[in-house]
Amino acid sequence: MTTETVDPRTMPITILGGGPAGLAMGLYARRRGLGVRLLEAGQEVGGNARTLELPPFRYDTGAHRFHDKNAAVTADVKALLGDDLRRVDAPSQICWQGRRIDFPPAPFDLMRKLPPSVLARIAWEQLAIPGQSSDADHFREMALQSYGPTLAELFLLNYTEKLWGADAETLSPQVAGGRLEGLDLRTFLLEALGRSTAKARHLDGSFYYPRSGYGQIAAATADAIGREHIRTGARITRIAHDGRRVTRVTVNDAEPIDVDTVVSTLPLTVLLRLLDPAPPDAVRALGASMRFRNLRLVVLGLDRPRLTPNASLYFPERSVPFTRLYEPKNRSPDMAPDDQTVVVLERPCQPGDAAWTQPDAALRKAACAMLEAQGLVHRDEVVAVAHHAMPFAYPILDVAAESKAQRIKAYLEGFDNLHLLGRSARFAYTHVHSLYADAKALAQQVALQAV
Ligand SMILES: Cc1cc2nc3c(=O)[nH]c(=O)nc-3n(C[C@H](O)[C@H](O)[C@H](O)COP(=O)(O)OP(=O)(O)OC[C@H]3O[C@@H](n4cnc5c(N)ncnc54)[C@H](O)[C@@H]3O)c2cc1C
Repeated sequence: MTTETVDPRTMPITILGGGPAGLAMGLYARRRGLGVRLLEAGQEVGGNARTLELPPFRYDTGAHRFHDKNAAVTADVKALLGDDLRRVDAPSQICWQGRRIDFPPAPFDLMRKLPPSVLARIAWEQLAIPGQSSDADHFREMALQSYGPTLAELFLLNYTEKLWGADAETLSPQVAGGRLEGLDLRTFLLEALGRSTAKARHLDGSFYYPRSGYGQIAAATADAIGREHIRTGARITRIAHDGRRVTRVTVNDAEPIDVDTVVSTLPLTVLLRLLDPAPPDAVRALGASMRFRNLRLVVLGLDRPRLTPNASLYFPERSVPFTRLYEPKNRSPDMAPDDQTVVVLERPCQPGDAAWTQPDAALRKAACAMLEAQGLVHRDEVVAVAHHAMPFAYPILDVAAESKAQRIKAYLEGFDNLHLLGRSARFAYTHVHSLYADAKALAQQVALQAV
C-alpha cells in the first residue's frame, strides 16, 4: 500500500469521476491556473456521454445532442472542437400504431395522421386548457393541464412512465427535462392558421453534434486539461473525513490520497456509502430511498445506407419495451460507412428487474422483433451487434426526490472542502451544457477562495 502525502497548500483540486461534469471542472479549474487531479473508475473518460466503436460503426451511449442554450458554454465547446462541432437539423418522429408522427407535433402532420374523431377531441380539449402549467404537483397533472387528456394519454404519459418506471402521479414535473418547454399546442394551432412553423421545428430538430460522435466533447476536454492530470482505472472506494473536512480518498481499496478541495461527481447515493465515518442514520435512510434508472442499449449495424432521416424515433406505446431508437449517421455522416447505417435502441430498466438481468441475446431478439413489427428493419439486414449496460443513467425524480436531495446536500454542505457537481451527484435532471456552466461557476468560486 502506498500513501501519497502532500503539503495541503500546494494540493490540486481532487475531482472524483471523469464524466462531463468532472471533465468540465478540470477544464475550467486549469484555465483559472488551479492544479487538478481527476480520478475516474472506468478505463475511459466521458461517463454517460461517450462514443463507442463497433467497426465500421460508431455510436454514443444513448441519443445525445449538444443544446445551444448557453452562449458562453457553446463558444467554449466550439473552441475545443473547431469545425468538428456542427449544427444538425434532423427532426424526430413518434412511432404510434404503425404511423410516424412528427415530434414536436405539428398541426398539419397530426391532421394527416390521426383519425378525425381523435383530432376533434384534441382540438376541443385545447380550448379548455390554460396553457403550459408551471405549478403542477406531479407529471400527470402537468401533462393533463398543458396538453389535455387525449394528447397526454397518446404520447406523453405512457412514454414517461416507461422511461422512468413509475406512475406519472409519483413523478415530478421536472422529468420533462425542458423537452416540453414551449411545446404549447395552442401555438401550433395558431401557426397552422397561416404563420410559420419555424419555432415548432426548432424545439427538437436543431442542435450541435461533433463530427466523430458526442464523446468527442469529453475527449477534447480531457486533452485540454492535460491527460497527465487524469487517472483512469481509479475507483474511489472510501472517502475519509473528520466531520468538518474530507481528509483522504482511497483508490481501488489500496491507495489512500490526502486531499484538499474535493469535487465529487459520483452519484449522490454512492458518495454517501463511501463516507467514513458513515453519515447519520437519517441521512443514510434518505440516500437508501433514492433510486436511479438504468439503461440497456442494443446496437444494430444495418446493411442499408439509411433507416430514416430522423435524429430519433420515440416509442410511446406501453406494449413496446424500448423507448427510443436513434441513428448516429443522422447526427454525423462519419458514424457509419456510406452504404451502411447503425441504430441504437434504448431499454430503460430497474436494477435487479428481469429487463436488467436478461441475457444480451434475449434483449436483441426483442429489439429485432419490435423493429420488424414496426416495419422498420428486417433481421437479415443486421450485420453487426453490440450491447451496452448503463447503471445510473437517470436519477428518478419522484415528487419527494427534490426535498430528499436538499436534505442530503444540507448535510454534505457541513464539509468545508467538498463540492457536488453533476447530474447524479446533485440528483438533478441536468444536461451537458448546464454541467459546463455549473463547473465554470464552481471553478471561479474555488479560485477566489484560493487567493
Ligand atoms: C440516454 C441518455 C441520453 C442523454 N442525452 C443527452 C443529450 O442529448 N444532451 C445532453 O446534454 N445530455 C444528455 N444526457 C445527459 C448526460 O449524459 C449527463 O448529463 C452527463 O453524462 C452527466 O455527467 P456527469 O459527469 O454528471 O455524470 P456521468 O456521466 O454519470 O459521469 C460520472 C463518472 O463518475 C465515474 N464514477 C462513478 N463512480 C465512481 C467511483 N467510485 N470512483 C471513480 N469514478 C466513479 C463514472 O465511471 C463516470 O465516468 C443523456 C443521458 C442519457 C443517459
